[in-house]
Amino acid sequence: MKYKVDDIVTLKKGHPCGENSWKILRTGLDIKLECQGCNRVVWLSRVDFEKRIRRIKTNEGKFISIIHYEPEEN
Ligand SMILES: [Zn+2]
Repeated sequence: MKYKVDDIVTLKKGHPCGENSWKILRTGLDIKLECQGCNRVVWLSRVDFEKRIRRIKTNEGKFISIIHYEPEEN
């Protein structure tokens, strides 16, 4: 999958605070995510994260399905 640090994503389930958008702070074997509602930080294993990720925010500010996401080349 084509996500990277600083991307904003939504997951299958939102945070208990009611928000469901997360900023990716770190990638690797574990993924570090910051809730954009309350700024709480959580860690997910990459396997879990890739099961739960649903949508990703594009450069235009729209959320689209991760399946259809094609990041622009730099
Ligand atoms: Zn939260």
